Amino acid sequence: MGYAHRLDGERRFKLADFDPGEDSGLKREEGEKKTARLIEELIELQELLYAVRTQSVLVILQGRDTSGKDGAIRHVAGPLNSQSCTVASFKVPTEGELAHDFLWRVHARTPSAGDITIFNRSHYEDVLVVRVHELVPEEVWRPRYDHINAFERLLADSGTIILKFYLHISRDEQKQRLLKREEDPIKSWKLSVGDWREREHWENYTAAYDDALNRCSSKHAPWFIVPADKKWFRNLAVAETLRNALMPFKDGWLKKLEELGRARKEEIDEYRSRNHMG
Ligand code: AMP
Ligand code: MG
Repeated sequence: MGYAHRLDGERRFKLADFDPGEDSGLKREEGEKKTARLIEELIELQELLYAVRTQSVLVILQGRDTSGKDGAIRHVAGPLNSQSCTVASFKVPTEGELAHDFLWRVHARTPSAGDITIFNRSHYEDVLVVRVHELVPEEVWRPRYDHINAFERLLADSGTIILKFYLHISRDEQKQRLLKREEDPIKSWKLSVGDWREREHWENYTAAYDDALNRCSSKHAPWFIVPADKKWFRNLAVAETLRNALMPFKDGWLKKLEELGRARKEEIDEYRSRNHMG
C-alpha cells in the first residue's frame, strides 16, 4: 500500500473518509530522505521514458487553495530534466478558450510521447469551480463527467499514463496557511480575496469533488488522495505514487532500448564496412 490512497472506480468513497493529517507514523526527516531517494529513481525512469518514446505521462494536480499544488510541483518536478517535463497551469478561461469546448485548451497541452506534463489544475475545474459557482447551467456541466471519461480513455489508449492527485487539506490547515500568507509580504502576492470567498463554499466544493472523483476514477486514470496537511508527507506521497506507477515499465523500456541500440549498431557497422572505414 502506498502513502496516497488509490481510487480506480472499484468502490465508492467520500473525501471525509480520509484524514488530511496522515503521516504513516514517519518523522519529517525520515520522510524527506525517502522522498529524495524516490526522486533519484524518478529521474532515471524519466530518462528511459524519454529515450523509448512509446508512452507519455500526464500528472493532474487538483486541490483547494493553499493545498500545495505549487509546492508539490517545485519539490517533485523541480529536480526532473526540464527538457522533457513541462507544467501547464489552467486559470480562468480566456474569451478565446470559452469560445471552444471545455477540453480544447486542455487537449492542446497533453504530453508528447516521451514527455511528462504536469497539470496545475485541469479540465476538472469545469466540474468544480464551474459547478460550485453555477458558471454554466447544470445541463451543461452534468454531461462533462462522461466527456472527461471518454477523453481520458482516448489519452490512455494513445499511450498516456494518467495519474490524478487530489491534495487533501483540512479546513483548519487551510485557515493557518491563508493567515500565514497574509503576514508574509513575500507570500501575500499569492493570496486573493477570492481565496477567503472560496473558503465559504467549502462544503459545496467537497460535494463537487466527491462527485468528480467518484465518477471519473478508473484503472487507466486513477485518482490518488494525498494527505496534504504536512507538506513533507504530501511530497513523499506524490513522489512515491509517480515512481510506483512508472517502475513496472522499467524492464520493458530497458529491453526496448537494448533492441534499439543493437539495431542502431548493426546499421552503423554495416555503413562503416561498406565504406571501408576502420
Ligand atoms: P491559481 O491556481 O491560484 O493561479 O488560480 C487559478 C484560478 O482559475 C482558480 O481560482 C481556478 O478556480 C480558476 N479556474 C481554472 N479553470 C477554470 C475554469 N475552467 N473555469 C473557471 N475558473 C477556472
Ligand atoms: Mg490561488
